[in-house]
Amino acid sequence: MSGGWVTVAGLGPGDAALVTPEVTAALAQATDVVGYIPYVARVAPRPGLTLHATDNRVELDRARHALDLAAAGARVVIVSSGDPGVFAMASALFEALEAHPGRQGADIRILPGITAMLAAAARAGAPLGHDFCAINLSDNLKPFTEVERRVRHAARGGFAMAFYNPRSRARPHQFGQVLSLLRAECEPERLVLFARAVSTPEERLTCVTLAEAAPEMADMRTVVIVGNQATRRVGRWVYTPRGVPA
Ligand code: SAH
Repeated sequence: MSGGWVTVAGLGPGDAALVTPEVTAALAQATDVVGYIPYVARVAPRPGLTLHATDNRVELDRARHALDLAAAGARVVIVSSGDPGVFAMASALFEALEAHPGRQGADIRILPGITAMLAAAARAGAPLGHDFCAINLSDNLKPFTEVERRVRHAARGGFAMAFYNPRSRARPHQFGQVLSLLRAECEPERLVLFARAVSTPEERLTCVTLAEAAPEMADMRTVVIVGNQATRRVGRWVYTPRGVPA
């Protein structure tokens, strides 16, 4: 009705230079910004812009709130870090839409961003240069047995892997279990990259072998990239060749 809209935007991994121009333009037109506290903190305040920062794990409430604001005429940007479609708010918005058929005519746009694994891979070289997959290690939205099943199949399938949400204070032990599982499936020389806070002043990259990898190397600001069998070092870089020998 009233010209309101909802845009779900990815803010990239941290550095302002990695925010796309279309996300910057959407934020410039917005009346309201909705999101998790640390992401909303990355949006510059200005007159006429209301910032709604909420705690983690309230994604559906946040999405519903954004749809309600837009129905009342607001121009709302829901912010995610990285890309909004990767373990983030875009799916939460569509879940809210499914539960609320009356809002399905809403004017919605999803604006991509640079996701953590791509920013991390670029810093290291090209560890995702061949087939790969991304797995969220959090058991917040799926049982941990399912996390383990997916990691096992990805390892057996020869995929390089990017692990999001590898380790938190609430579940410090599970990442150790994932490393044990990988040790059962892969050779000890397999390269593992720990990329922490990529593109921020706290950035730290560590590349070790699977034999050397320890759970303490990861936290919630780390994306972990496990290479495939061919992933190797060249000079100070890590890369995965583009093919697999016949
Ligand atoms: N939508 C985000 C991911 C959200 S899940 C994206 O596309 O990047 C949160 C997880 O993303 C973190 O636990 C961490 O694994 C990863 N992450 C986000 N920003 C990161 C950064 N700057 N450096 C390393 N990992 C990051």
